[in-house]
Amino acid sequence: MSISSSSWDLIIMFGNPLAWILAIALFSRRRICDRESYSSPDDPESFHLLRRSTRRMYERAIRISGLADRCRVISAVRTASYNRTLPNSVENSSHTRGMAVDTQFDTKAERDRFVEAAVKAGFPRIGIGNLSVHVDNDPELPPGSWGYPLGTPPPYDPFEKYF
Ligand SMILES: [Zn+2]
Repeated sequence: MSISSSSWDLIIMFGNPLAWILAIALFSRRRICDRESYSSPDDPESFHLLRRSTRRMYERAIRISGLADRCRVISAVRTASYNRTLPNSVENSSHTRGMAVDTQFDTKAERDRFVEAAVKAGFPRIGIGNLSVHVDNDPELPPGSWGYPLGTPPPYDPFEKYF
């Protein structure tokens, strides 16, 4: 009795070192940021509270922007008590629900590359600072863009500029 052609397909697939290299590369894709970077400073375990959709959208955006060489996150999850200690935080912050990521860049050109990528990745809410960007996908809050300090308009409308 001979081996069926579909068995040969399996043997060829699993016997192929290139398939293994590809599989390992896909499964061990390097994390850009460690867990601490996403945690509230007063609770190192709080990275668990970061929504999967937010983290995936953020990682997609930072990869699209070509700025995934190192971690750019300055604040993601915030406990309500930590959020209250911040001078310019809003009480109903999407950070306290694990749906926001703040990033810091070296130049305005980098900032704008990330903003464009964040729009492409699907973030409906983007705050644009001098060199920082807030992104969130909190469905409880209205979509839009803004500048810093809060209450000032963004330097440009990211949703107009790129679409
Ligand atoms: Zn923020």
